[in-house]
Amino acid sequence: ECKRRGRNGWLEFCEEMERRQNDRLQIERRLRKALERNEFRLVYQPQVDLQSGRIIACEALIRWRNRQLGELRPDIFISHAENTGDIVRIGEWVLHEACRQIRQWQDKGLGLIRVAINVSYRQFSGDRLARQVRDVLDEYGLPGAALELEFTERVLIEDAPSTLRTFAELRQMGVMLTIDDFGEGYSALNYLRTLPIHGLKLSQLFISGVPKNRSDVAVCEAVSGIARSLGLGLVAEGIESEAQRQYLLQLGVPVGQGFLFAPGLSPVEFAHKLR
Ligand code: C2E
Ligand code: MG
Ligand code: MG
Repeated sequence: ECKRRGRNGWLEFCEEMERRQNDRLQIERRLRKALERNEFRLVYQPQVDLQSGRIIACEALIRWRNRQLGELRPDIFISHAENTGDIVRIGEWVLHEACRQIRQWQDKGLGLIRVAINVSYRQFSGDRLARQVRDVLDEYGLPGAALELEFTERVLIEDAPSTLRTFAELRQMGVMLTIDDFGEGYSALNYLRTLPIHGLKLSQLFISGVPKNRSDVAVCEAVSGIARSLGLGLVAEGIESEAQRQYLLQLGVPVGQGFLFAPGLSPVEFAHKLR
């Protein structure tokens, strides 16, 4: 009896693994075709001045809608795209689409709105990125300052020889460089001293617990201290409550992002909000 159940358990385990493997293959197969099928779009989440509530920039977040699979979350499909390498083409699309949108908002008289895009560590390998950014900015007649690139600590860990050069070239163009989800991964504090970056994003992971959770408070204080003493900008992510906003304000964090202000918005909704 025991043996039998054991075997059933094993069978179920194998079936579960097979299902997951199938899911993975399904996603990757559909992901490969998603670009040509026009299944991606970008939504724009405002970054606001925490004191006045004024919108000062936004972050572009990718959305994928597939007929069979429905709406998939980027934190799931991006890692698949990183594994297959598709992220490089997808990332290029994001860059184009964001710049096209900045141009369109500007043409509509909304002013030059800075858009932050998320860039995968895989886009940093090789020396394509800086050139690509320059070409796309030129294509839409935009200054580097219209664009911000967010990357995670993973980029620093991978430590491709070309990474430093890429950073320097981007900075030269006036493109803003920001470390996303700071503190979530390996914080390569050593890099902060030497990298030509502009700012850090304080991960939502730590914002969710403030002002009550003492260790989250400790992390927020530490990161804001690091940013201040190194002269880096700081954006707090995932602000959902007024209490969190108040806490961050008294900590001296200037800029925030989160559902308290707005989720990711369509270009039309964003323009409305801006007006
Ligand atoms: P991220 O760059 O840290 O983006 C912030 C995520 O937190 C977004 O999820 C956003 O919708 C969500 N968020 C914002 N405010 C709040 C809040 O107040 N509460 C909560 N609970 N969540 C909030 P999203 O859009 O699902 O993106 C997840 C991650 O996927 C992003 O994290 C980023 O790492 C990645 N990602 C998104 N778009 C792109 C892209 O175009 N390229 C690449 N390479 N990665 C992307
Ligand atoms: Mg981001
Ligand atoms: Mg983040």
